[in-house]
Amino acid sequence: MQLLKDKILKEGRVLSETVLKVDSFLNHQIDPLLMKEIGEEFANRYSDDVITKILTIESSGIAPATMLGLVIGAPVVFARKRKSLTLADNLYSSKVHSFTKNETNEISVSRDFLSSDDNVLIIDDFLANGEAVKGLLDIAQQAEANVIGVGIVIEKGFQQGGQLLREQGIRVESLANIKSLANGQVEFFD
Ligand code: 5GP
Repeated sequence: MQLLKDKILKEGRVLSETVLKVDSFLNHQIDPLLMKEIGEEFANRYSDDVITKILTIESSGIAPATMLGLVIGAPVVFARKRKSLTLADNLYSSKVHSFTKNETNEISVSRDFLSSDDNVLIIDDFLANGEAVKGLLDIAQQAEANVIGVGIVIEKGFQQGGQLLREQGIRVESLANIKSLANGQVEFFD
C-alpha cells in the first residue's frame, strides 16, 4: 500500500535493526485518514469472505481494526492484556511474549464475544515473530471460531512470524512488508 509505505519512509524512525517506531501515526498519535484507507484496503483484500468478527489486541491493533469494522459492518473484539475486575471469568486466555517489551502477558477475550458461529479476521499493527497473532489464533481456536486470515499493517518480513503462519496455511495480508532496517534505512519487499 503505497500511501502507508510513503508515511513510513517520511515519519518512521529506525530504532535498531529490528525495531521501527511509528508513533506519529499508528502507535501513539493516530492518523485517522490513513487508518481509514487501511481499513478499506483490508476490506478489499478480504472482499470475497464473509467476516462476522474482527479480532485484535490492545492497544495498537484497535484503530486499524475499527476502521475495517466500519467499512464491512462487523464488530471488533480486542484481546485485553490485563485482567480487570470487570473481566474476571468466562474468558478465553492465552500467553503472548511481547517482542518490544520482552515480557509475557496473558491476553484474554470474554466468551460472550467470540463463538463457533464466527468467521474471524485477525488484525494487528505489526508482525514480527508472530507471537501476538499466535495468541489470537489460540483464542479463536478455543472459541472454535473459523479463522479466515490475518491482516497486518506493517510486517517485518525479515523476522519469522509471517513465514511461520503462511507455512501453516494461514492467509496473511500485510499492507507494507519490510525487508530490512539495516543502516537506519527502511527497505521494503516489492
Ligand atoms: P510479534 O508478536 O509478531 O513478535 O510482534 C508483534 C507485536 O509486537 C505487535 O503487536 C507490536 O505491538 C509489537 N512490535 C513488534 N515489532 C515492532 C516494531 O518494530 N515496532 C513497533 N512499534 N511495534 C512492534
